[in-house]
Parts: sequence; C-alpha cells; structure tokens
Amino acid sequence: MERFDTCEAMTAWSLGQRSEGARVGLVPTMGFLHKGHQALMDALRPKVDRLIVSIFVNPLQFGPEEDFEQYPQDMLSDQRICNEAGVDAIFSPTEFYPKGFSTSVSVHDLTAGLCGEARPGHFEGVATVVTRLFGVCACDIAAFGEKDYQQLRVIGQMARDLALPVEILGVPLVRDEDGIALSSRNSYLSPSERVRARTLHQALFKMQDAFQDGERDVEALLAKGHSVIDADRVDYLQIVDGVNLGPIGKITEPARAVAAAFYGHVRLIDNVCIGGEVEWT
Ligand code: AMP
Repeated sequence: MERFDTCEAMTAWSLGQRSEGARVGLVPTMGFLHKGHQALMDALRPKVDRLIVSIFVNPLQFGPEEDFEQYPQDMLSDQRICNEAGVDAIFSPTEFYPKGFSTSVSVHDLTAGLCGEARPGHFEGVATVVTRLFGVCACDIAAFGEKDYQQLRVIGQMARDLALPVEILGVPLVRDEDGIALSSRNSYLSPSERVRARTLHQALFKMQDAFQDGERDVEALLAKGHSVIDADRVDYLQIVDGVNLGPIGKITEPARAVAAAFYGHVRLIDNVCIGGEVEWT
C-alpha cells in the first residue's frame, strides 16, 4: 500500500494508473476509521482497479465553536484497516489547500435546511474539499455514506451540476451493535451519554414502524419520534422528501426521517428511509 502526503505525488500516481487503463476509486474520509468507512471501501473495491482512501480533517467544514482541534486521529489503526480492505493508496496530505487558495463551491437549495441550517458554511466546506479531492486524486468514482444523507445528496447534485467526470456511489448506513450509527464522534460520548444516544435511532425506527403500520401523516409520525428521543438538545427531527429534502405533510413518495441531536457537547446525526429508497444520483 502506497501513502502520499503531497497533492502533487497523489495526482502523479493516480494519473499514471489511469494512463495504464486503470479505473481509480476514492473514499474521502476524515480518518479515525471504523466499519462505516470500511463499508465504503468494500462497496467500491470490486468496481475499481485502484482504490484510494483520503484521510484529511478539512478545516473548511467546521464552524468556529466545533471540534476541529479535537477531532480524533489514529493513523496506525487507519492504515491497518485500509490494508485489510485492499486499499492501494492512502492520501493523507500535510498541506491540502495551496497558498492563496480562494475558491469555494456552494450548492443551493439542498443545503438550506437540516445540517445546512444548523451548521452555516458546513456544506460549502464539504463541497469545496470534495471538488479539490476529485481533482487531486483524479478519480473515476467516489463513495459516500448514507449516514450523511444530506451530504450525499449535495455531492450528487454538485457532480451533476458541474459535470464533474466522477461517478458518485451511495453506500447504506452501518450501525454499531447497539444500533447507534457508527461515527468517529461516538468516541467522545461518555457511557451514560452513549446509553441515551440510543434513543436517536430508536425514535427513527419507531417512526419507520408506524409508517409500516399505515401512518402517513408526518406530524403524527414526528410526535411518535419526539416521544422517544432523550437528548440534551434536538437540533432537528424531520421527515423530508427523499430527493429534494424539502418539507412534506403526507408521505406519498420515498422520504427520509432525519435527526440531529446533542448529547453533552457531542452532536450526532442519523436517518432512516421511509416509504422506499430513492434513486439519488
Ligand atoms: P467522515 O470520516 O465522518 O467524514 O466520513 C467519511 C465517509 O464515511 C462519508 O461519506 C460518510 O458518510 C461515511 N460514513 C461515516 N460513518 C458511516 C456509517 N456509519 N455508515 C456508512 N457510511 C459512513
């Protein structure tokens, strides 16, 4: 397995692979890898000849009061996981944005609500880093998790709008044994916060069950969800259109139940599909 820490070396390697006819795949991550990230690697591995995992904690997507400085890291464990997943190259840049970098990528509409509303500037930071990663890694295809459902939609829209020559692959959310969505940020939770954090997915599952029992009214479903969540602050609990993420009153099309809540200072997100999966690209 190769490891590159400059953009120039990464690009040269990837273009070299492509010139020999290899199809190159990318899994963008911020490191502290877990089975959720592994699922992205496993989904992409059979579709490509060369697989890159990028590990970069992107300052642009963190707000001033957020956890950029504390974001967990474990490069040895990350390397082991990548090795076991058959990754060909890790890209862990020491400097990612060139001196004088002065561009940002904004996706509108899809970023107006949910995490876009709660974390101003977040999706601009995500869209910008992903666009540059696509350029630096010269990839043909990239995988993103449904764990960050809004992010997946935003990147799909961006790739289409800008005609980026990169196929976007969505990968289902992976949960821990107790049902909590796997996240690098789960490591921040105290044992008691972790127990209460289970109520986040339990609320979403309760709404999904009620839908399966015939309930179609969004207010009624949300009331069921709210009755279950025990959090220090619920950022949002909503059921949105599965394609445009806009508000809905009754479920007639594929929708997504989405939630974000704080346990202590830890902000967790989760989502489940309600009423069928969407073709999201
Ligand atoms: P992160 O390192 O948190 O920026 O995540 C990198 C990629 O892994 C993103 O595309 C995430 O959506 C995806 N990811 C993170 N956690 C999970 C999970 N539990 N299940 C599926 N994908 C995940």
